[in-house]
Amino acid sequence: MKVLLIGSGGREHAIALKLSESKLLTKLFVAPGNPGTAALGENVPLDSLDFDAVSRFVHQNGINMVIVGPEEPLVKGLGDYFKSTPELSKVGFIGPCADGAQLEGSKDFAKVFMVENNIPTARYQTFTANTLKQGKQFLTQLSAPYVLKADGLAAGKGVIILNNLNEAQAALEEMLKGQFGEASSRVVIEEFLSGIELSVFVLTDGKNYTILPEAKDYKRIGEGDVGLNTGGMGAISPVPFADVSFMNKVEAEIVKPTMAGLKKMGITYKGFIFLGLINVSGNPFVIEYNVRMGDPETEAVFPRISGDVLAAFKAVSDGSLTRAALGAIPQHSATVMLVSGGYPEHYHNGYPITLDKPIGNELIFHAGSTLDSANQLVTAGGRVIAVTALGDSLKGAIDNAYAGVETVHYEGMVFRKDIGFEFSEQ
Ligand code: ATP
Repeated sequence: MKVLLIGSGGREHAIALKLSESKLLTKLFVAPGNPGTAALGENVPLDSLDFDAVSRFVHQNGINMVIVGPEEPLVKGLGDYFKSTPELSKVGFIGPCADGAQLEGSKDFAKVFMVENNIPTARYQTFTANTLKQGKQFLTQLSAPYVLKADGLAAGKGVIILNNLNEAQAALEEMLKGQFGEASSRVVIEEFLSGIELSVFVLTDGKNYTILPEAKDYKRIGEGDVGLNTGGMGAISPVPFADVSFMNKVEAEIVKPTMAGLKKMGITYKGFIFLGLINVSGNPFVIEYNVRMGDPETEAVFPRISGDVLAAFKAVSDGSLTRAALGAIPQHSATVMLVSGGYPEHYHNGYPITLDKPIGNELIFHAGSTLDSANQLVTAGGRVIAVTALGDSLKGAIDNAYAGVETVHYEGMVFRKDIGFEFSEQ
């Protein structure tokens, strides 16, 4: 099969690596890809939001399967474009149409969906500029911390959590005045939930589903999970507290009602559902839905997947997915994200990267790297490289990943030294 994978991050490098192991793969294109994916397939300079250009490329190159990494093309309707274009309707497409993508594209839609389907989530209300007064009033009924969320996509920055009521009321006003543009024309205010977060990934063909290995990511820049939020500084899989009984609750209380809710709305969802969960005293609650894999969770999850992912994607597009299509190897994985000095605020690009010979089983996934005009690998983003390693225990995986980190060099390299440490005796 000829496959077009859309995206350019560490997530897409990890997906490309797994695809490259499939016997079904004849040719892999990655749009736009990165220096890591270039070693596994052909990078093509396509803009995934230019649907005509994507469609022309797919048609001209006889692509059989399109796999979408990031959410934006999905929320903007790339899947719908494929479905409604006769010459593309036979091409497999992994990712929901815009109707299903609202689960991520609108936090208000996701909250209504959860309430209607009895899916455990934080109590909430949604406000607009016309209901600012009621919003401020609603905040007085909650206790600190206050959670304010821009309804639409805001590049991971649209959630504000504040301890002070006056500040929360002022923040609500700013958001509704357009702090995040159209994305914050509606704001969801919700109750704060206290617990440990984890991410669970489901692959579905619209009827059947398989649950991928779960992961825990580390969002803050600083050790001990302090400081500014980032795209993610690392991840581990499996998650020690996500035992069989907890995962059974996730399936019964969240996955099944989510599938049933989509069906009830007439949404045929083909792709990944990423459940951002929080464990509150042993019970899972949904913090958010995403309609694609996570980054850096993919870099920890995909190396643990057993089975042929391309065969599973084909089954998704044919509507013949089985639960056993993909499984998990028993080994643990740990991913450490190497970022640019100054990230997630100001940082410089263009520092030469050198990679030593691998010293163990580590996998080097490129994220923000590029080749400069002299063909030198240089930094080109906040999150530069993700290093993943497997191990027979979590501690083994963490040790192997940090040993792998020693093989990467560039000026200003920053990484957290505590990924997975709170569980590492297990
Ligand atoms: P992401 O960048 O993870 O996609 P997002 O902008 O879509 O984020 P959410 O995932 O909804 O927003 O929230 C971001 C983070 O804020 C969560 O990962 C969690 O740590 C925290 N958070 C959100 N809602 C709550 C809540 N109700 N209670 C406690 N913490 C919360």
